[in-house]
Amino acid sequence: MYLDFLAGAFSHDLAIDLGTANTLVYVRGKGLVCSEPSVVAVAKDPSGRGEKVIAVGHEAKEMIGRTPNGIRAIRPIKDGVIADFEITEAMLRYFIQRAHGRGKLVRPRIVICVPPCITSVEKRAVRESALSAGAREVYLIEEPMAAAIGAGLDVTAATGSMIVDIGGGTTDVAVISLSGIVTSRSIRCGGDKMDEAIINYVKRKYNMLVGERTAEQIKMSIGVASPTAKTETMEVKGRDLVAGIPKVIIATSDEIREALVEPIHAIVETVHLTLERTPPELAADIVDRGIMLVGGGSLLRDFDQVLRQETKLPILRSEDPFTAVVHGAGKALEDLQLLKEVALT
Ligand code: ADP
Ligand code: MG
Repeated sequence: MYLDFLAGAFSHDLAIDLGTANTLVYVRGKGLVCSEPSVVAVAKDPSGRGEKVIAVGHEAKEMIGRTPNGIRAIRPIKDGVIADFEITEAMLRYFIQRAHGRGKLVRPRIVICVPPCITSVEKRAVRESALSAGAREVYLIEEPMAAAIGAGLDVTAATGSMIVDIGGGTTDVAVISLSGIVTSRSIRCGGDKMDEAIINYVKRKYNMLVGERTAEQIKMSIGVASPTAKTETMEVKGRDLVAGIPKVIIATSDEIREALVEPIHAIVETVHLTLERTPPELAADIVDRGIMLVGGGSLLRDFDQVLRQETKLPILRSEDPFTAVVHGAGKALEDLQLLKEVALT
């Protein structure tokens, strides 16, 4: 008891948004301290069997698609589920250490945001990973709940709010009321599927292969969700599939819009299905209050406009779609009563 109190007084309690694309860390009393890609690079251990972690975050992301034999760049939670526990734990340890600075030996209370569809086995695994990475106490909050808090919605009220979080690996749609998730739906379609759709489109149309990083850059600079008045273009470099040599094409925003039709349709469809399963009183609240968009994928140009047309509902965007989840978890970390109300048991 007494030691626990001491540990609490001197430790930096943390909130972590372990996203499929980016991991963000919030320190109690300080705010957001780091935001890096959820990527780990591992190399074969020269001493024999096994692999060792050689880079995490930005440094590891730069290595994607550029690694020599023997080195792999891994995204351990790519599809919203934890595919590789050991790597996830290594990543958590790295982020906890980064947040703490020079090796303070205190054990923090940690709030971790998890996907809403997570199984109890996965929950236990996340908890254990955090404990063995040095946590004293671990709380899990579902991402849509954290996102809603972060976006400034009153999650404890008896009013329905809808959150749509378009991340890298998944899109989560949830309706929240009275500190709980009333109904939710997740699909493995988010920013990554958009990148893949661009890769496939360029392959079909130009017989050219582009990498994941390039596809993401195309999406972010000229990607759009609906037809625009002015067509934008971008020079794209890749490898010709027939000649096998590097080649350059000029891609247009109209082409990329065409490429993105399927993933965008899948996301809109998920919102529709969730609305259909929402109890009528809460549906009425959503008509008044609208749908809150968060997640990096929601930055796709004109996506909000498409969703507005398709649902006829007001569409709001959180101020900073990348940080809504971690800021929500951070607010819960600062407010123990709220934390106990919204955390999973
Ligand atoms: P996660 O919570 O799963 O880690 P994020 O909320 O960090 O995901 O969002 C990451 C996704 O957002 C990536 O797929 C990235 O390509 C995409 N993204 C970032 N900026 C933009 C943009 N301007 N337009 C479209 N997509 C974007
Ligand atoms: Mg996220």
